[in-house]
Amino acid sequence: MKPGKILCRYFVIIVLMFIAQSSFAQLALQADDPPRKTNIPEFYKSKLSDIETEIKGLKTGKAKVIATSPGGLPVYAVFYGEKENFQSHANYNSAVGARNPVYYAMKDENTKPVVYFIGPVHGQEPEGIVGLINLIRVAETGKDYRGKAWPELKNFFEQCRVIIIPCGNPDGRKRCPYDSFVGIPQETMTKYGQGTKKDGTLWRWPHSKSLHPMVGDVGILGAYYNNNGINIMHDEFFSPMAEETKAIFKIAMEEAPDIAVSLHSCSCNPFIIQNAHAPYFMKERIADLAQKLNQQYIDLELPNMGQGWGLSISVDDFSPFPQQSFNMVSALHYASGTMAFTFESPHGTIEDGATYDEILDIQLVLYREMFSYIMDNRLYWKNTE
Ligand SMILES: [Zn+2]
Repeated sequence: MKPGKILCRYFVIIVLMFIAQSSFAQLALQADDPPRKTNIPEFYKSKLSDIETEIKGLKTGKAKVIATSPGGLPVYAVFYGEKENFQSHANYNSAVGARNPVYYAMKDENTKPVVYFIGPVHGQEPEGIVGLINLIRVAETGKDYRGKAWPELKNFFEQCRVIIIPCGNPDGRKRCPYDSFVGIPQETMTKYGQGTKKDGTLWRWPHSKSLHPMVGDVGILGAYYNNNGINIMHDEFFSPMAEETKAIFKIAMEEAPDIAVSLHSCSCNPFIIQNAHAPYFMKERIADLAQKLNQQYIDLELPNMGQGWGLSISVDDFSPFPQQSFNMVSALHYASGTMAFTFESPHGTIEDGATYDEILDIQLVLYREMFSYIMDNRLYWKNTE
C-alpha cells in the first residue's frame, strides 16, 4: 500500500474516533426536548462531579476506584467499618455443595452485618446517586444535605460493615443530559434512558433488551448502557463483558453481604422487586422487607404502593420458557448468598409526580429499613460440628 493511502486511512480512522468520542459526551438537548430544570435543589446531588466532591471530603469512609468504565471514568466504592475475618475456605457455591455456607464465610453473633448498596447501573436513574451521596453525608455527619438528622441510620454505621457504590455506570450517567427528571415527561426519560434507533424511534423498555450489547441500530445510545452498549443488569454473569460488572461481583464475593440492593427508578411509586431466581426462603425474606418498607412509606405519607400490596413468593413459573430473567440480583445471590433485590424509585416525572424531597426521603427510608431488617433478621453461618 502506498504511504499516501496509509496516511489517508489513518486520517479516516482518527476522524471516526473523534465522532465516536464526541457522541459519547453529555448529549445536547434536541429542539423538541423540554429544557433542563434550573431550580434543582442543592441537596439533590445527582452528578458525577457531586460524587467526586463527596469522595474528596470523606473523613471516616474509605474510597477506592474499583473499575474504570469504557469511557475512562472511575467507578468508586466507599467502605465503612472493619471487614471481618470470614475464615473462608471455599467460594459460596462450593460451600453450599459442602452443605454449609460457613466454609465460605463464618458469620456468628460476634460478627457485624454487611450491607451493600449498589448505585444506579442505569445512567438515567440518578435518584439512587442522590440517595447514596446523602447516605454518605449521614454516615459522616449524622445529617443529610437538607440538614435533616437521621440518628438511627448514623447509628447503624457503627454496627455494620457498609459498602456503597454511588454510581455503577458513570458512562451512562455522563451521557444522560438531565440531572433530574422531576417535572419532565416520562417520554423524554425513555428517549435518553433506553435510547433511539437510527431512524429516531425509541427503543423503549423492554424491547431495549432485545439487542445486547446495544450496538448497531443506535441513534442516541441510551444512558441504560455503558459506552460499549452493555446493560450491566443483564451482563453475562458467568463471563462478564463489563469491568463495572466484574467489580460489583468481586466486592460481593469478597464481602459476603448479608443484604444488597441494586437501585433503579421508573415512572412509578417506590417498590422492591422480587428476586426472580432465588431460593424460596430468600424470596420470603425479600417479600417481608418489601411489605415493611411499603408500610413505612404509607405511615410517612410518602408515595407508596397502597395498603394490601405485596410480592409474590412463587418458586418457579411453569411456562415452557422462563418469564423472568436471571439478572444481576439473582446472580449476586448465587455468587455470595446475599439477600439481593432490586429497588425502584420514582423519577419525579410528570406522570409519577414525586418531588425532590420525597425522592430523597424514599431513598433514605429504604436504607434505614434495610439496616433495621438485617439487624433483626440475620442469618448466621456457623460450624455445626
Ligand atoms: Zn434501571
